[in-house]
Amino acid sequence: AEKTMEKIVALAKSRGFVYPGSEIYGGLANTWDYGNLGVELKNNVKKAWWQKFVQESPYNVGVDCAILMNPQTWVASGHLGGFSDPLMDCKECHERFRADKMIEDYAKEAGLDIGESIDGWSHEQMEAYIAEHKIPCPSCKSHNFTEIREFNLMFKTFQGVTEDAKNVVYLRPETAQGIFVNFKNVQRTSRKKIPFGICQIGKSFRNEITPGNFTFRTREFEQMEMEFFCEPDTDLEWFDYWKSYCLNWLRTLGIKEDEMRYRDHEKEELSHYSKATTDVEFLFPFGWGELWGIADRTDFDLTQHQNTSKQDLTYFDDEKKIKYLPYVIEPSLGADRMVLAFLCSAYDEEELEGGDMRTVLRFHPALAPVKVGVLPLSKKLSEGAEKVYSLLSKKYNCEFDERGNIGKRYRRQDEIGTPFCVTYDFDSEEDQAVTVRDRDTMEQERVKIADLPAYFEKKFAW
Ligand code: ATP
Repeated sequence: AEKTMEKIVALAKSRGFVYPGSEIYGGLANTWDYGNLGVELKNNVKKAWWQKFVQESPYNVGVDCAILMNPQTWVASGHLGGFSDPLMDCKECHERFRADKMIEDYAKEAGLDIGESIDGWSHEQMEAYIAEHKIPCPSCKSHNFTEIREFNLMFKTFQGVTEDAKNVVYLRPETAQGIFVNFKNVQRTSRKKIPFGICQIGKSFRNEITPGNFTFRTREFEQMEMEFFCEPDTDLEWFDYWKSYCLNWLRTLGIKEDEMRYRDHEKEELSHYSKATTDVEFLFPFGWGELWGIADRTDFDLTQHQNTSKQDLTYFDDEKKIKYLPYVIEPSLGADRMVLAFLCSAYDEEELEGGDMRTVLRFHPALAPVKVGVLPLSKKLSEGAEKVYSLLSKKYNCEFDERGNIGKRYRRQDEIGTPFCVTYDFDSEEDQAVTVRDRDTMEQERVKIADLPAYFEKKFAW
């Protein structure tokens, strides 16, 4: 059966993974809330990332920085001034476009040379070019545009009680800058030597022009970013190292080879400061989409912050006796996008013997929101089953379900991706054992209750 976004969105809503935001008030465009299962899934995704990138990596440590930062941060990073998007609206069809993109696309198609980069063009230059070449609206082909307006992707707000221009602050559009401004702090307190990395998980905000595709692109989202600091000239080796590290992380969590690929950026597509960039893409039901942006950012960010803050951000290598600004490799992953990819990858409809269908989310056990379903075969057996529940729920998120026939209860657990169900039956009192059912094979085995902790320890090892 076909895997579609409609089915996945419907299952996500009905089972408590993701609801539309502020639903009782008619919603708020492109906002989503994680429900009882979604919060578990997302936490597990973040935990799995932290485990491999911080806990198990000899190189890395973590931080958790403020969302609100001194606005000078955004001057240094390039987010304030110059780097926002030049937008224009079509007066006929009311579609909104980026003028620079429109010109680039048009020039490419028509084989026109617009020089090295359009980045430095003024609004007047762009407007003149569009008029001169009679570039039509990409949507309705008319030639009736508004003027170009500068659009900043950052959310603006006020710190303090008065709405005073002096007190303008921005919600961070990426977590990376909190890491850069703390580079010296972390290096000092962690006593790390180059090469080392700093990781952070947290919310970011961008006033995206075209949000959509469920949780793929939203204006409020969570990122899992690492900035890895290394010696200049070792950067491309580390770039390759982290590139395969990222793909491997996806692989060990069950993403299949034909669902993911690298997309290396061509020279023309690279940001001016980047030596190499690769997107790890995932095949969503709506097509390939960027999941993980991995970039060699050279010493651009630390240089910018050093110049803007006038603080010395160089590193002194006391073995080699050299001083330098480290180069940076940045793998940047969206937590929400990752959750969506895992949902899409896990979704399966299977035809059973006898023609019945079952929907299964084949999550990796480490990601499954509910690890073990505890099911008394009859309500009369609740007491014994509750003991099993309290034994297992000390370590795992478990669900206790005593309603409906056992087949229906298995289906329900399959549908939310629970890897194991433990059934407490009429023999359990006698033999102090339960039946453990495997979600994928549907095979069952008898396990002593006392052996369950060790049994699951092995099953959930990752
Ligand atoms: P895109 O081209 O998809 O807009 P980007 O190149 O702007 O992404 P980066 O700035 O490299 O994205 O951000 C790193 C990662 O953060 C992305 O790969 C993605 O997983 C996630 N991300 C970025 N913007 C959003 C968003 N609006 N909603 C959800 N996740 C996002």
